[in-house]
Amino acid sequence: METKILYGKNLAEKILSGVRKEVKELKGKGVNPCLMTVQVGEDAASRVYLNSQQRQAETVGINCELLQLSAFTTQARLMRTLDNINEDPAINGIILHMPLPSALEARAAQWRISHEKDIEGVTPYNLGRLFLGAPLLAPCTALAAVELIKSTGVNLAGKEVTIIGSSDIVGKPCAIMLLKENATVTVCHIGTYERGYLEEHVRRAEILVVAIGRPNTIRGEWIKEGAIVIDVGINAVGDKIVGDVEFEEACKRAAFISPVPGGAGAVTVAFLLQNLVKATKWQLAKRASGLEQVM
Ligand code: NAD
Repeated sequence: METKILYGKNLAEKILSGVRKEVKELKGKGVNPCLMTVQVGEDAASRVYLNSQQRQAETVGINCELLQLSAFTTQARLMRTLDNINEDPAINGIILHMPLPSALEARAAQWRISHEKDIEGVTPYNLGRLFLGAPLLAPCTALAAVELIKSTGVNLAGKEVTIIGSSDIVGKPCAIMLLKENATVTVCHIGTYERGYLEEHVRRAEILVVAIGRPNTIRGEWIKEGAIVIDVGINAVGDKIVGDVEFEEACKRAAFISPVPGGAGAVTVAFLLQNLVKATKWQLAKRASGLEQVM
């Protein structure tokens, strides 16, 4: 059996072409969608990521701004800054770049973001909507993982899915999205690993999503023959970036596998920009109706 590699580029381009069209329509109505990234403190690695995000946004006509705050910014100052951006009608989406310096309370800051501008889908309102089956702005990496799975053409109903990693931005939302498709979802995490049960859950999985951030933790020989494998992990090992799955070995058994880099990452940025367009439309609808709850 030949393994198909799920490159993110093609899927991302498809999503971005829809975004490009919608941005053009918004601009025709005099609306210029604008995304603001807030970074507290600076490091070279995240600057590379932010530059690439900005380049992609510009290719679809989205304006990107970066607000760089000092590493010594206080919580109160960060909260006031977020309040100001929430109030600014020219800004349609906010990304609060993680991690924040350890003196700051990340969750409180994320929850301060207006839910209509929360294009990463991290506020309780947006996660609550996802939980209740009516998502609006959902977490982009989870969207990317699910869309990569769907791109294989698989019918998800009743499929055995194992998700490894239970973070609020990847593992948990991915589980909720796949439950909505009637898949049978098992979520594993550090507790599963420490009890030595990871292998058996991986062996059972017809679809495997891995988002833990530990290089090559999932052994290729554990993968079920014919499985779909989505590797979300991004790990720097020496001068290389690798995923959480042993790629070469996994390729001998999987029917589909997403590579790292070149898999989920590219699709994540495309969904982020798609969320910006959704957020812009949400804000316009709210302003036009004068109602708080319009979507
Ligand atoms: P996190 O640290 O918030 O959560 C990690 C999860 O993995 C936790 O649930 C933890 O219990 C579990 N875990 C840790 N070690 C484990 C082990 N040995 N076995 C089983 N489970 C284990 O991480 P996150 O923010 O969800 O990110 C996970 C990975 O995905 C990271 O490598 C991150 O860089 C990557 N990521 C990629 C994208 C993208 O755009 N492709 C976006 C977000 C995160």
